[in-house]
Amino acid sequence: MPVKLYDTFSRSNQALSIPKDRPFYFYCCGPTVYGPAHIGNFRTFLVQDVLRRVLEIDGTDVVHVRNITDVDDKTILRSQEQNQSLAEFTEQWIERFHKDCKSLNLLSPTAEPKALDHIDEQIQLIEKLVEKDNAYQGKDGSVYFRVQSCEAYGKLNRIKQDELKTQSSNSAGQANLADEYDRESISDFALWKARKPEDGNNFWKSPWGEGRPGWHLECSAMVHSSFNGATIDLHGGGIDLCFPHHENEIAQSESAYEKPFCTHWFHSAHLKVEGEKMSKSLGNLYTLEDLEAKNYNLMAVRYTLIASSYRQPLNFTFDSLHASESALNKIERFAEALLEKLEQPVDTDSFNHNYVKTHAIKDHGLLQNAWESLCNNLNTAACLGSLFGVIGSNSISKMDSAEAEELLESLGTILYALGINLFTATAKDSNIPKAILELAEARWDAKQNKDYAKADALRKELLSAGWEIKDSSADYEIHPID
Ligand code: AMP
Ligand code: ZN
Repeated sequence: MPVKLYDTFSRSNQALSIPKDRPFYFYCCGPTVYGPAHIGNFRTFLVQDVLRRVLEIDGTDVVHVRNITDVDDKTILRSQEQNQSLAEFTEQWIERFHKDCKSLNLLSPTAEPKALDHIDEQIQLIEKLVEKDNAYQGKDGSVYFRVQSCEAYGKLNRIKQDELKTQSSNSAGQANLADEYDRESISDFALWKARKPEDGNNFWKSPWGEGRPGWHLECSAMVHSSFNGATIDLHGGGIDLCFPHHENEIAQSESAYEKPFCTHWFHSAHLKVEGEKMSKSLGNLYTLEDLEAKNYNLMAVRYTLIASSYRQPLNFTFDSLHASESALNKIERFAEALLEKLEQPVDTDSFNHNYVKTHAIKDHGLLQNAWESLCNNLNTAACLGSLFGVIGSNSISKMDSAEAEELLESLGTILYALGINLFTATAKDSNIPKAILELAEARWDAKQNKDYAKADALRKELLSAGWEIKDSSADYEIHPID
């Protein structure tokens, strides 16, 4: 069935046009590698990952390219603070990013080009733009894109040139007002930044002198080289990138190559934590390591980050994380019950390997609605709603083994689309002795069954063994007493 997605360009849900003669070209702006990625970044990467999985299940061959931003103000500044070369400094964060992606079960992109490895292509792109009068060297030696030369500038964001206020931005999207006199117009943005003392050794030779590429340029250059100059089918990123970054990508690429840059645009809304914007000063800028240290299961983190509409801002709370742990638990019990129905027993350890994969199935059976929801603008919330509808309907009780097998295949496909593996050992489990875990589970069950006397007795038993329980509405946490 056609996969529909909200397209930022046309401001409407559109069936993605899948080329017949080549793979689907999907480009995503990747991480800036000056520290660990946070759960907000991962929300965006996970939503892109789910879309790719849905397309692949639907039979589409996807070429997924996600770049690495390793040359910008922040990477340059931090590498110097650490007395490391830019490549050495960024490499450690790229490794960390890969490790985090693996723990969240993100598929590896087909290619992951780094800006540092593509300086030549970026210079060539600027040369082309200068040649065509779309760019000029400013008084400060930097090269700027002449926004006025691009009639279509603003078309993605539906803004007119005379409404433009933002100037060149860094990769955090912050306007840089300091150097407005170096360029012809306030809205022109830097393609090449002339060397400054604070850049240290991080400069390259170019026809305009020593310097380094501007941030917006790398994506245009990498899209061009990764997809051999073709118009790409889909471009993704967090909503903050829509302006100016994606507008600038369009202007650079379409001015240089005189063909449409991209067919569909895919932006995901931002993540907040406990209702607040994430920031270092509020102490709510969580990385996966932070959540693991708090004993959360990263599969539950994945579940939390993808379970609601990608077009709505997501409020990440610890209650929602607990609720995700319970939801995963319910799906596991359901899968377990199905496995027990099979003639040839399959243990839970083999479940992911045997079932969570791209099955070429035409009919998703009882989970057809769940599948259709995913195809309908990636409606993960409705997909999970349908899945829990099936789980709650007690449909397993009357099933024979063939029906259970069929449902397991459909369940595995939906879980593959969501990127969820079941029965993964949780961090919570791994640090805690089995006997203590059993007591904690028994106490939780007693509490759920309103047997408060038993729950209290078990809590005391745990306390005297040195373990403390903290409850939320959906789950509990267990910690050793300091
Ligand atoms: P960066 O590492 O800052 O270049 O960002 C990598 C990706 O994460 C980009 O697509 C951003 O739009 C996205 N992003 C940054 N902050 C958030 C957030 N709070 N919620 C969702 N996505 C984000
Ligand atoms: Zn980009």
